Amino acid sequence: MALEKAIAEFSHAEAAIKIASLRVKLKEYATAYYTADAPVVEDAVYDEQYRDLQDLEQAFPDLITADSPTQNVGGAVLSDFTKVTHEIPMLSMGDVFSLEELAQFNQRIVAATNQPSEYSVELKIDGLAISLRYEKGKFVEGSTRGDGNVGEDVTANLKTIKAIPQQLSESIDLEVRGECYMPKESFAKLNEQRDRDGQPTFANPRNAAAGSLRQLDVKITAQRNLDTFMYTIVNAANYNVHTQREALAQLEKWGFHTNPESIVATDAATVQAFIERYQSRRDNLPYGIDGVVLKVNDLAAQLALGNTVKVPRWEIAYKFPPEEAETIVHDIEWTIGRTGVVTPTAVMDPVQLAGTTVARATLHNPDFLMTKGVRINDTVKIHKAGDIIPEVSEVVLTKRPANSQPYEIPTTCPSCGAKLIHLEDEVALRCVNPMCPAQVKEGLTHFASRNAMNIDGLGPKIIAQLYDRHLVKDVADLYQLTAADLADLDKFQEKSIHNLLNAIENSKGNSAERLLFGLGIRNVGAKAARLLLEHFRSLPALMAAGADEIGTIKTIGPTIVDSLQTYFANEQVQQLIKELQAVNVNFDYLGPATSTPVQPNYFQDKTIVITGKLNRFTRDELTARLTELGAKVTGSVSKKTDLLIAGEAAGSKLTKAQNLDVTIINETQATQYLNEVKE
Ligand code: NAD
Repeated sequence: MALEKAIAEFSHAEAAIKIASLRVKLKEYATAYYTADAPVVEDAVYDEQYRDLQDLEQAFPDLITADSPTQNVGGAVLSDFTKVTHEIPMLSMGDVFSLEELAQFNQRIVAATNQPSEYSVELKIDGLAISLRYEKGKFVEGSTRGDGNVGEDVTANLKTIKAIPQQLSESIDLEVRGECYMPKESFAKLNEQRDRDGQPTFANPRNAAAGSLRQLDVKITAQRNLDTFMYTIVNAANYNVHTQREALAQLEKWGFHTNPESIVATDAATVQAFIERYQSRRDNLPYGIDGVVLKVNDLAAQLALGNTVKVPRWEIAYKFPPEEAETIVHDIEWTIGRTGVVTPTAVMDPVQLAGTTVARATLHNPDFLMTKGVRINDTVKIHKAGDIIPEVSEVVLTKRPANSQPYEIPTTCPSCGAKLIHLEDEVALRCVNPMCPAQVKEGLTHFASRNAMNIDGLGPKIIAQLYDRHLVKDVADLYQLTAADLADLDKFQEKSIHNLLNAIENSKGNSAERLLFGLGIRNVGAKAARLLLEHFRSLPALMAAGADEIGTIKTIGPTIVDSLQTYFANEQVQQLIKELQAVNVNFDYLGPATSTPVQPNYFQDKTIVITGKLNRFTRDELTARLTELGAKVTGSVSKKTDLLIAGEAAGSKLTKAQNLDVTIINETQATQYLNEVKE
């Protein structure tokens, strides 16, 4: 919402009223954003109103007050955490939205330093700032930015992040700062899971990272797959580091993750090319970025330039414009997940958005749908939450058809007709009928999926046919299927019958953590299933164990213990387990050698192509390592490729991957992901 008139037309009294109302709104937005990690408006809305406030305050400087959002680093310190005082404050950053404003920033720097400008140009990572302190090389304290002067002690949470070295090779005292972020893939998975579990989703990776780090239960942080890019050495001169470039190199030497995509620039054209490159490629990066940061490279010059009350004078963020598109909603589809959560999706005219064609956008839950007020045939603006999940931002009311009717939320399950309910504290609608066909089919699909029983060829379409023909109603029935049963299915020939029966038969021999995960017990993910079976060695031993013993396993919290006990206490479940035992499905843990992959990792289940010249590995070595981690390495880029690892001088495969929107990482990033995989 831009100001209603030009600044020059505001009287002093009008400006005072407008300033007061903007401050109230911005503070309300900031509280939701920083305290609850759940923004109530898009960043672009916040940024525009912040700009309005800044412009008005500049025109009427006597109206500036110390508590204005323009004078304070936005942030909150939750009372649950111990406070950490930052000896050197952790500031915010000035931002610009155009190349002209960037040129003005450069002019200010040149005028103030009397030198030609040289910048370290870096990506602005969509995460939250953290500070890490080391004493004699040992990681002793980690904190959030908080209000800039006082942050939250999140040492225990940060210790769960593999990218953070616990011990440096040099026995030094050190403080470093950088960004803690959630990779896009983890962000997408987390939000899908939260949608399925009926919990509110995170608006972007930054809020997801902040919400995951600021957890009293460290086990939750540990499950969230956070990563870091460090970029600042506090008092760098003490370590003989004199430029920002040297700082990045030194941080890497000490073993921190640094972002590989930065450059040094001495002219505007190089900066502009960098901005354009990453504005168009941001969708292909495995982490979210919301702009580019320019930092005066010479650290002595940075010190001389100093700070305002809120931001350093030596750095600036160029913020990317939000990517939005308009399209028309034709339908709202309701899908029923494995746990009965009913999720609305807008079905729309296909439209290009941030590099991909989008025809469906999530509406998350009935509250979200009602708040946005979407109706059939409405024109809506869509964006990608965290650069990844298409989401409806708002309805374009001026384009609403005259005869349009408010959308009515269903009261009964579209699959089984049971009454839908809201469980306490949940935004989601649920179908609680355990026999609901949609839920049963989802459960069967999950059982057969790659990370569970890995039954090749048994996808949702076949499962739907098996279920609809009353051939299968639960997972034990899969093991009773015969060639005659399958012969009736659409397009099923002798070979596919043979292959599917074989795949089902082979799945009986899986290590038992796959079975446990495949049963689809609430809150029991693949990792928890593996930890449980590593400890108990067999499904019956786990079923016989008491809550106390289960709870002693690292990262297994009370929620998982409760879910397991409730599940196994159910008589129908006990019957199901007996049926699985009767057909000789393996119940024992067979050890890491047979239960691949050993540890969930970035490469797992991806189809990967390697191209270009590699420096750290031979092509064969990297292929072997990726295969070990559960990836499939192929020779050519196609629609099926999930990831391209591009070494130096990559050629046509890189271009093809860019055209097909395949995620691309370089060798340094691949190495960082490999280093994260222990064991
Ligand atoms: P900021 O996030 O715009 O910039 C400062 C931060 O950038 C630093 O603290 C650091 O964490 C980060 N950063 C990422 N990459 C970096 C790099 N390479 N080098 C240095 N720093 C890097 O500023 P802020 O004060 O943290 O937050 C203000 C922004 O937050 C607003 O512009 C707005 O977009 C958003 N916000 C949104 C809402 C909302 O309701 N949607 C409310 C408040 C704030």
